[in-house]
Amino acid sequence: MRPSDLLVPRPEGLYCPPGDFHIDPVRPVPRALVTHGHSDHARAGHGAVLATRETLDIMAIRMGEDFAGARQEAVPGAVVDIGGVAVSFHPAGHVLGSAQISVAWRGLRITAAGDYKRAADPTCAPFEPVPSDIFITEATFGLPVFRHPPPEAEARRLLDSLALFPDRAHLVGAYSLGKAQRLIRLLRDVGHDAPIRIHGALSRMCDYYVSRGIDLGPLAPATVAGQRGRGFAGEIVLGPPSAFAATWVRRFADPLIAFASGWMRVRARARQRGVELALVISDHSDWSELTATLTELSPAETWITHGREEALLRWCALERRAARPLHLVGYEDEAED
Ligand SMILES: [Zn+2]
Repeated sequence: MRPSDLLVPRPEGLYCPPGDFHIDPVRPVPRALVTHGHSDHARAGHGAVLATRETLDIMAIRMGEDFAGARQEAVPGAVVDIGGVAVSFHPAGHVLGSAQISVAWRGLRITAAGDYKRAADPTCAPFEPVPSDIFITEATFGLPVFRHPPPEAEARRLLDSLALFPDRAHLVGAYSLGKAQRLIRLLRDVGHDAPIRIHGALSRMCDYYVSRGIDLGPLAPATVAGQRGRGFAGEIVLGPPSAFAATWVRRFADPLIAFASGWMRVRARARQRGVELALVISDHSDWSELTATLTELSPAETWITHGREEALLRWCALERRAARPLHLVGYEDEAED
């Protein structure tokens, strides 16, 4: 038996012939297994979706209750039989509800990690190593130059700026699923107790995180009638990246533009976005997390996907680890990191 008998790349996404399902398909399919709620992995229109409870809830929040014909909850760690394939979901540490999907059939186990990170994140369950014959890793930050700093230190830099410029509203761009809630939690953990203002586009997801037991502290809307003149000087205001392209930023007092993303490690990207304060906070593994994970799991073979495959392939070759690129299309490196 070849591994491709169990999982094979197709234009719609990774396909499992014996189970007749796709993992994170980018086009509508009869049966989809979804790792997490980010829009390049979780799409509407599938016949049936199997995902964790949180991912199903998040898909419904973002795409409407009718996002799929049928839905089935995957309980982390439990095995579901699909056409003789033993399927199980395991935490990926990426965002709330994110999971690796492991498939076992005729003595072969392949685990598709989806997006994952190893750094601590109090807003989701930590990555769980699953011993596998084949491990499918992402490589979004698969270059040695990418080393994410401690996220607490980045949160403190935001508070330091707030102390230094108390007359300026601090507008922080953060993706609406995962990054915004993690940044809020980080700010709480480094001692920021004041209300944090959030753009309307973030409120439903923040409410959902709170409903799942993640304490985000006091949140307030970023739009309050009569506050226009004051413009939230000295406050932290979170908005989705799209808001920064619109007239939204003009309503604030002498705004200081910050952005929280792993890409902020690249100065040109920060400049492009007009970012004054670049916060390097990522929900993806950096180079050291990627290589440490491959060392720890030591799979017989590694398949590398969406990102910078070449450097990680080279590292695997030097380490005498079997690896190959898995050319999957449709996953955007910056859509929602
Ligand atoms: Zn993601």
